[in-house]
Amino acid sequence: MIEIRGLHKSFGSHEVLKGIDVSLPKGKVLVIIGPSGSGKSTLLRCFNLLEVPDRGSIKLGDHAFEFREGARISGKDIIALRKATGMVFQSLNLFPHMTALENVIEAQVTVQKRSKSEARARAKAQLEKVGLADKADSYPHKLSGGQQQRVAIARAMAVDPQVLLFDEPTSALDPELVGEVLKVMKQLAAEGMTMAIVTHEMKFAADVADHVLLMDDGRIIEQGSPQEVLHHPKTPRAVQFLNRLHGKSEE
Ligand code: ADP
Ligand code: MG
Repeated sequence: MIEIRGLHKSFGSHEVLKGIDVSLPKGKVLVIIGPSGSGKSTLLRCFNLLEVPDRGSIKLGDHAFEFREGARISGKDIIALRKATGMVFQSLNLFPHMTALENVIEAQVTVQKRSKSEARARAKAQLEKVGLADKADSYPHKLSGGQQQRVAIARAMAVDPQVLLFDEPTSALDPELVGEVLKVMKQLAAEGMTMAIVTHEMKFAADVADHVLLMDDGRIIEQGSPQEVLHHPKTPRAVQFLNRLHGKSEE
């Protein structure tokens, strides 16, 4: 499903990704962990070209890209790739002037060109799946942070993405609201959704990940099963990071 090879990305003179290789088969869950500033968000944003890498290659489903200095990637290809992905961010970013239902309808109509009635039916079904059928007509400010993130997941799912990307989806939430969001994500994983997730929720990572990447300073320093990476890390840097995280759910 996703194949990333030799990915490099710099911001000015600061090299943030220093040669990243990742494979994620269809139906699997990748969890990315690592200290703040290690490049997790940048890597995830490369998956759907919110950041365009300087070098390397990305394959996602039928979409394939090679990056070289000076090469231009066409806007049309970027849009095609974006349509194959859904993303849920750390910040609560629903449109404030639209109800939950309208938020889930919007991209289906504007990006996917679905009819309003089909988009509405699908939006209702997605809201029901995340347990928010009764909040369809509520505006975001009337919803808790956990409910807003569940609407954001419904919105991401409504366009039938091949892969869902999550960047610390529970980091901005009060602790008591984290569980309801993780539960929805677990349900999607159980249904076979392909997902790449940046999180500091270690218990969740251990439960749901097929593959864990631990990043440090723009490199992958450990990768493997949750058992291998979370319980038997090999590098001193990984041991240090995991110890620091222990007993602490967010950075
Ligand atoms: P993480 O998600 O692991 O905390 P990020 O990928 O957000 O790390 O950031 C990695 C490094 O890249 C940080 O030093 C950050 O300041 C820098 N960085 C991220 N985005 C930008 C940007 N748009 N412009 C300049 N520097 C950036
Ligand atoms: Mg980040």
